[in-house]
Amino acid sequence: MSPFFGYYYFFFLTCLALFLSRPCFPARTMPETVTVITTEIHNATWHDFSKLLHAEKGSQVSGMSELKKYLHHFGYLSIPNTTSNFTNTFDKELESAVILYQKRLGLPVTGKLDSDTISTIMAPRCGVSDNPAHEIHSTRHFAYFDGKPRWARGSSMTLTYAFSPYNTTDRLSSSEIRPVFQRAFSRWASVIPVKFVETSRYESAHIRIGFYRGDHGDGEPFDGVLGVLAHAFSPENGRFHLDAAETWAVDFDREKSKVAVDLESVATHEIGHVLGLAHSTVKEAIMYPSLSPRTKKVDLKLDDVEGVQALYGSNPNFRLSSLLESENSSNLAHGSESGLSRWTTSKAFLLLILFLCT
Ligand SMILES: [Zn+2]
Ligand SMILES: [Zn+2]
Repeated sequence: MSPFFGYYYFFFLTCLALFLSRPCFPARTMPETVTVITTEIHNATWHDFSKLLHAEKGSQVSGMSELKKYLHHFGYLSIPNTTSNFTNTFDKELESAVILYQKRLGLPVTGKLDSDTISTIMAPRCGVSDNPAHEIHSTRHFAYFDGKPRWARGSSMTLTYAFSPYNTTDRLSSSEIRPVFQRAFSRWASVIPVKFVETSRYESAHIRIGFYRGDHGDGEPFDGVLGVLAHAFSPENGRFHLDAAETWAVDFDREKSKVAVDLESVATHEIGHVLGLAHSTVKEAIMYPSLSPRTKKVDLKLDDVEGVQALYGSNPNFRLSSLLESENSSNLAHGSESGLSRWTTSKAFLLLILFLCT
């Protein structure tokens, strides 16, 4: 083989391998499975959605009405006009709701109850509605609440926050919780001209944080372990509620539970709501609605920063270049994790072909 053909062939195979390793490659060679955490789960409702996997349009499956209630709760499906209850039929309204859900959650849009969709629906998440009626911009993925509310306290503002003296958690001490929230608030403060200061005067604080169980009087009852993890209200309400039933963790080395939820990740997300951001369609963004157990996700992404800066302006000390740098390096790290097997397979494939050709 001439050197020209050798290089050309190598180039062709490299392109082929790169094409095969693309993350958006549509073919699924793995059997479709839904990962379900079966231990310690007391939240039976969402757990049951696994039986709806691959249910066809037009079919009747017991439990479909619960899925419809879920989609209604998060803003995707309205109550039927003819009857007051949801049926167990996979009707066209459900299909439209599934399509809207898939678009909003950044999933492949199939209109079917495929494994990506069912596992995302079953994942623990924030209780705030996804507000799917809002148009999704083609390049930006952050969103705001209706009317785009924000805190208005002048150009450089200070917002106070306090922990409820009554609604606490016995899992973590105050000395463990306070630094978590300090870090979470400081991430947002580093990108916008807003200071966050802790106060002991709970009633008069702008942002009031507490741990609550079940129905706690705001029309958004918590649901036990996993399911809904927390919710916060849009500006200038300031209520920030965490589900006291969760296994809140500040350190996964110490908290070994399979259903442990990272407090700092959830705190950072809910502060985004307190400031006026709604849910983002970008999976990596802090404002994406779901978070798996035992996952730490605390760094603001470009999407979060653009969203919040459009409301408050930029912190004069904020440098976009350093954010992009850290985002690139974390993408590389992320890529080396999630794309590793794909890339290794492609590389092995390429080497195998080269070996066969020599
Ligand atoms: Zn949320
Ligand atoms: Zn609440």
